[in-house]
Amino acid sequence: MTAKRVIILAATFSSITLLAQTAPMAKDPDWKALEDETMRHYQAVLRLDTRNPPGNEHVVVDYVKGVLEKEGIAVQVFASDANRSNLVARIKGNGRKRSLLIMGHSDTVTTDEKKWTYPPLSATRNGGWVYGRGTIDDKDNLTAALMTMIELKRLNVPLDRDVIFVSEAGEEGSSGVGIGYLVKEHFADIDAEYCLAEGGGVTRIGGATKYATVQTLEKVPRGIEIVAHGISGHGSIPLKSNAVVHLAGAVAKIGDWRPDIRFNETTGTYFRKLAAISPPEVAKYYRDVLSPDPKVQRAADDWLLENEPRHSSMLRTSVSPNIFQGGYRSNVIPSEAKATLDVRALPDEDPAKFLAQVKAVINDPAVDVHFTSDNERGVSPDAKLDSEAFKAIEAAGTRVYNAPTLPMMSTGATDMSQLRVRGMQCFGIGPAADFEDAPKGFGAHSDQERLLESELHRFVRFNWEVVTSLARSK
Ligand SMILES: [Zn+2]
Repeated sequence: MTAKRVIILAATFSSITLLAQTAPMAKDPDWKALEDETMRHYQAVLRLDTRNPPGNEHVVVDYVKGVLEKEGIAVQVFASDANRSNLVARIKGNGRKRSLLIMGHSDTVTTDEKKWTYPPLSATRNGGWVYGRGTIDDKDNLTAALMTMIELKRLNVPLDRDVIFVSEAGEEGSSGVGIGYLVKEHFADIDAEYCLAEGGGVTRIGGATKYATVQTLEKVPRGIEIVAHGISGHGSIPLKSNAVVHLAGAVAKIGDWRPDIRFNETTGTYFRKLAAISPPEVAKYYRDVLSPDPKVQRAADDWLLENEPRHSSMLRTSVSPNIFQGGYRSNVIPSEAKATLDVRALPDEDPAKFLAQVKAVINDPAVDVHFTSDNERGVSPDAKLDSEAFKAIEAAGTRVYNAPTLPMMSTGATDMSQLRVRGMQCFGIGPAADFEDAPKGFGAHSDQERLLESELHRFVRFNWEVVTSLARSK
């Protein structure tokens, strides 16, 4: 037994003691005894190939179904495509409160196998880490929710509300077979007051736990296409109307443009709380960006754009030109050139007004601007920060991680948006990761992906704490 293991054990026991003092009636799992089982399920689902495309999430559904049924938990499998199934399981409560939904997506993004030290489907354990595609997106949430279900059943925990578990397909870009399908065809089976899914996490810096984030809101993806029109001709005779030149000018203007800064309840609270817990040299920028003085705010905005681009994106509707197409032969002036902008709108953004702003910034009659496709996910309101669920998450963050909880708006979209538009209060949670790890190339969707074993186990406990404090009969 290593020294590190002893420390983890000691921490586990001391918090169980603490819990026992605050809730004397509560029966809790034997966490130490569950570690092997947790790891076995985690590695098993990591080794199942659900890289999307094509997904083939039914392999995870088959596995999870077997695990749950062995515990005596009934499951339902819903699929619009048999290879891309979703699983729903429910443990009944006394109905005093509305249900709680806990979910994880079973698909992962694809991999470039050459870039992996350990093969992406190997779930190799090395040096305290587990390596593999899906380790932090999202087979961690899936495993934690699965373990919570198993323990609720084994300990026969009396519940004030049903707890519903969902293994969902297609989160990585094909939600039509996953949450989209469930919401459309089987909503009654997943309807709940609260839902827990991916999108949050706990930040460790230099190995020390600093703060937890809970995703309570997300930006809305919208694509904009800009098309420059000109006269075609022979490349030997340059024309002022050259579509490539007009498009390049338009894209350059968009690249320099920073849409207005606007805060909502989530982002305002986030930056205020972050300022309160950060070292003074960076706290200054988080405070200044909230300043009513445009000069002070602008300087902080400049710093964030340069040093913390994710924070810069949280301030505004962001625009990133990501596709640029024009021309097909070096001696032909094309009559058209096109670029696509990835727009991530603040939830309260008015699309028509925003499009008009884009047009005004480009200010070129030869360039058309339009939205590419309808936004599929819908605009969702903030999950409430004064809700029972947020308070339960915050309290569990203190107990399990001894860390403050910050509400967070994610710049990317998740499947929670489809549930939020149906009135569910959704909260994104996740395990602790080293702040230094993603820049090394081990983040979600990176060339490699990994999670600390100790943090997998701590996350299972956190998941349990949140679920039981929301659902256990009082
Ligand atoms: Zn994910």
